[in-house]
Amino acid sequence: MRKVLVLEDEDSIRSFVVLNLQRAGYQTVEASSGEDALELMKQNPDIRLALLDVMLPGIDGFEVCRRIRASGKRVGIIMLTARSQEMDKVTGLMTGADDYVTKPFSPAELTARVDALYRRIGDSDTAATPRSGEISSPPFLLNTRNRTLEKNGQRIKLTQVEYTVMKLLMENPGKALSREEILEAVWGRDYYGEVKIVDVNIRRLRLKVEDDPTTPTYITTVWGYGYKWEA
Ligand code: CA
Repeated sequence: MRKVLVLEDEDSIRSFVVLNLQRAGYQTVEASSGEDALELMKQNPDIRLALLDVMLPGIDGFEVCRRIRASGKRVGIIMLTARSQEMDKVTGLMTGADDYVTKPFSPAELTARVDALYRRIGDSDTAATPRSGEISSPPFLLNTRNRTLEKNGQRIKLTQVEYTVMKLLMENPGKALSREEILEAVWGRDYYGEVKIVDVNIRRLRLKVEDDPTTPTYITTVWGYGYKWEA
């Protein structure tokens, strides 16, 4: 599980950040003070990324950043800075932060930064312990050995055909696949039925995997062509 520490003293901002990270497939640990954050970092050695607000009642975010760096742990750090404090970025990067996000930020901006940093940190780990037989596309994990799909660690029951469609999509993140292409890959060249079967299976898959099947965000429609897996 990809665990992220969220340090922010303002409840509304913290909840907003936590909600959006969870939607993006991350597990979150929350702190409202720098002191708490450092304690939680000790208790959760598997935290790989920390979002640190700068302005806090006790020790500030820069100091938390400095102390995390001093601990020698390999953790990605993103500072949450205020627009009025332009110097924050510089100071943040000086104290060892990897990136910063300026408030107010959109959920898309936040998760994009977190995903990007997580990918950078995660890369070397993946190389060290190759997890073959798995296709990961948070919050989804497809296990190709026992042909199962998990979303946020929860098993989603799929038919064999649905599984095969899902695998094809997840193997081609961001790529528009034509309905004919999907038909051939899943049902085979000799299939004599209609291409409509692709749509039927996509519709069923959406009911199982989408947060809101009426507005799909994972399996999107490429109008007049086919479908795409949004990585
Ligand atoms: Ca604050």
